[in-house]
Amino acid sequence: TVTDASSFVDSKIAVVPDFPKPGILFRDVTPLFSDADAFATVTTALSEPFDGGFVAVAGIEARGFALAGGIAIEQGVGVLTVRKAGKLPGEVLSESYALEYGEATLELRPNQIPAGSSVLIVDDVLATGGTVEATITLLERAGYVVAGVAVLLELDGLGGRARLEGRVPVHALSSA
Ligand code: AMP
Repeated sequence: TVTDASSFVDSKIAVVPDFPKPGILFRDVTPLFSDADAFATVTTALSEPFDGGFVAVAGIEARGFALAGGIAIEQGVGVLTVRKAGKLPGEVLSESYALEYGEATLELRPNQIPAGSSVLIVDDVLATGGTVEATITLLERAGYVVAGVAVLLELDGLGGRARLEGRVPVHALSSA
């Protein structure tokens, strides 16, 4: 259930101060990924509000890949990998966005599924929403329809939900 999933998110995500830089409170999902019951439970709960409404799941590098794989097998859909710049060969769409310090670029290989396909976006943590917003833009530029965004954890006070709501539905299993 979603309640079990939320308690797994709360109990199995480690909170690591000052990683990877001083001042950052890092949420480490590896203990949740390595627990078979927790991983299966959150995978099911992440996609639940969108089940039947998407034909592919877009995982954001790198922790989104593991979650996307689990959802894809369970829902019988394919995976799109949204990658950091320079990892995908051939034709790619690129989208740059601002980080707290500097800039990041995400890339998507277009023309892998039919135009108009509905796609669910998945990642581990929603913070400012910049990463997901760039992913929405990439998927829309590729001609797809974003069915929604599913994350394990949303961080309050960073504006992620406000930035995305109105554009796509946002489903978070827990918040902190
Ligand atoms: P943002 O674009 O600000 O919403 O940041 C989201 C991306 O950065 C996701 O891919 C997260 O995995 C990662 N991220 C941001 N903040 C944290 C955090 N405190 N702990 C772990 N990952 C984070």
